[in-house]
Amino acid sequence: MALAILALPGWCASYHFGAVWDGHRTVRDACIAVEGDHIQSVGPCSGPATDLTRYTAIPGMIDVHTHMTYVLGNNVTRAGRGAAVVFLAQENPRKTLETGVTTVRDLGAQGYADIAMRDLIAAGKMVGPRMFVAGYGLQNTRGTDVTPNTAHGPAEVDKVARAQIAAGADWVKMYASTGSGQDVSGTATYSFDEIKAAVDAAHSLGKRIAIHSYGPEAARDVVRAGADSLEHATDMDNDTIAELARGKIFYVPTIDHNRYYADNYQLLRYPPEALEKLNDFIRRNLETARKAFAAGVTFAMGSDAVYTMFGENTRELGWLVKAGMTPEQALTVATVNGAALLGMEKSLGALDQGYLADIVAVEGDPLADIQVAIQKVRWVMKAGQVVVNHTAGK
Ligand SMILES: [Zn+2]
Repeated sequence: MALAILALPGWCASYHFGAVWDGHRTVRDACIAVEGDHIQSVGPCSGPATDLTRYTAIPGMIDVHTHMTYVLGNNVTRAGRGAAVVFLAQENPRKTLETGVTTVRDLGAQGYADIAMRDLIAAGKMVGPRMFVAGYGLQNTRGTDVTPNTAHGPAEVDKVARAQIAAGADWVKMYASTGSGQDVSGTATYSFDEIKAAVDAAHSLGKRIAIHSYGPEAARDVVRAGADSLEHATDMDNDTIAELARGKIFYVPTIDHNRYYADNYQLLRYPPEALEKLNDFIRRNLETARKAFAAGVTFAMGSDAVYTMFGENTRELGWLVKAGMTPEQALTVATVNGAALLGMEKSLGALDQGYLADIVAVEGDPLADIQVAIQKVRWVMKAGQVVVNHTAGK
């Protein structure tokens, strides 16, 4: 990886691609002129340009569900963990950039490590995608384990949701059902009133909310409560799916994260029995995604990457194609739709004049074969700076 030529204001450069897929259409043999951190123009070439003609340019992709601060074998004492993981997890954002993901929405961290990481990346002190973060995800933990993310009842939910935003979170994250790692149960953990309290708290402060539900029961309440995105949910009934489509609530199925858990069950010390449950969940997750896509639900691409999954962030695209999308529709989900979910549709997710210069060069035609976008990322620019470059000597 070659690190960044500093993009100064007024600094201008042109990049010549074999083709540019701008988020909506393909232009062959085109140049993208970049001025400072944004795109000045996309169109016919004139004057000198960096030769990237063997590549197709696509917009920087957006992974709307990561846990960038999750690392394995973290032996730091609990109180110090939030600070330590920013150091321990620094390969995660770096590997994410390698996949052509230049923006993430990070959905849950301890000790506000996500806020620190977001700000360090924004200040140029760490290498990684720009981050939108959620602080602590709200959880209705049973028993006596009271942590900063514990919230029972609508009043407490309201208070804890507001506390995340006060701490500097961009989003609110709520866990409305069980299900995580080898546990694929999807038992609802919050009532409709509690979910509604979280949605209202976020919206009243001008923020958005992502809600986790593995199962259909909480998913129904999440949709009814008007959340901005629903994460993971399987086995949703037709009414809930229709309501998702009508309410334009983004569905982020995160099918690939259970593939990661199944592939790595030994590393993660899951018993062999976990495999069957994970694979069954994957099957139901894909089937639900297929139904939702056919019903006109709006999707965004989320990997739910944790631990050593960074670098595999865009494998979800393959599942989206399996769920019935064309490669172009899957890429739209990972770019245009991700930007819309983040409220950044005027500056991210497309290659057009005035947009941030987040550009990914892939070798081949990603609209013909989605694996090109997954496996053949050769060069990445983020806000006008080259952050990945594997073009030399190839
Ligand atoms: Zn997650």
